[in-house]
Amino acid sequence: MSTGRLTIDLDALVANWRALDAMTQCKTAAVVKADGYGLGAANVAKALFKAGVRQFFVAVAEEAIAVREELGAKPEICVFSGHMKGDTDLIRELGLTPMLNSVEQLTHHLETLPDHPFGIQLDTGMNRLGLEIQEWAAVAELALAQKPRLVMSHLACADEPDHPMNPYQLAQFRKMTDGISAPRSLAATGGILLGPEYHFDLTRPGIGMYGGFPFEKAAAVVELDLPVIQVRDVAEGEVVGYGNAWQATRPSRIATVSGGYADGVMRILSDRAKLYHGATVCPLVGRVSMDLLTIDVTDLPEPPSKLTLIGPQQSVDDLARAANTIGYEVLTQLGGRYGRKTFGK
Ligand SMILES: *Cc1c(COP(=O)(O)O)cnc(C)c1O
Repeated sequence: MSTGRLTIDLDALVANWRALDAMTQCKTAAVVKADGYGLGAANVAKALFKAGVRQFFVAVAEEAIAVREELGAKPEICVFSGHMKGDTDLIRELGLTPMLNSVEQLTHHLETLPDHPFGIQLDTGMNRLGLEIQEWAAVAELALAQKPRLVMSHLACADEPDHPMNPYQLAQFRKMTDGISAPRSLAATGGILLGPEYHFDLTRPGIGMYGGFPFEKAAAVVELDLPVIQVRDVAEGEVVGYGNAWQATRPSRIATVSGGYADGVMRILSDRAKLYHGATVCPLVGRVSMDLLTIDVTDLPEPPSKLTLIGPQQSVDDLARAANTIGYEVLTQLGGRYGRKTFGK
């Protein structure tokens, strides 16, 4: 096989969800947007459903199709983007719960699907999605009379526990929702870790389940091995790859592996990424190509047949740091060409 192999451990994913669930006294949903953070929404949702999860969140209505198909009618599937024009048929046919973000969405929903469940998303300072405090004041009575399934907001800085934005948003959320009878939700992964005053009735973890920061104690969920296509010896002074970007300073052995920026190995990792053979580090040398990487394997006793990019020696977050990004981006960019092996429940 000449494509990389991505191994997805659903038992680890379920264990991470359980660990996050055990940190709160309230209900715990699961966020499976962006195809389950790149790992396959249907597989992820199926494993979580078996573990007892009954409420899922997606970003847009179209993402709910695969989840509903896999899980049947029972679990609740909520849509962060709410009820856009054009979503009405999907929301009705799949029985989705849109998180309504504006007065327009609320009006549109009540007009087109008057008895259909919905939730409300409030903006508490992030200025991304949700009704602002004055808008909410104007429509709260009307909206609450329709018994929303959930009233939620989202934290902008929850992965920085000491950030003053956290207590500010908490106070705003309380100001907007204290005393209502609808269930409330403020916390994603970061919010769960901030403590019980952030938990309310439901939490919505994503990244922590998938093994990423800020849930430091998460079990690893993915491994990525890349096959070596060719190995060659280069003399001191020879150059490797596009732009002659790397030059050997000693007689070297270079392994060319399958995987490149088209597979989510970002080009910024040129000359920066490390791959591993067991515990031995093998640096990426020269530029990341679309489909290939060149790796210095001079220090290995034997030419390797594969090298590991994500594994025990290098987590998703380690790789993200090398690429100047976050684990969320590394996961959601994992390419469609990898052979995917999913194991666990
Ligand atoms: C993505 C998202 C989540 C999940 O966040 P994580 O940081 O991955 O746990 C929860 N709520 C909203 C509104 C989101 O957009």
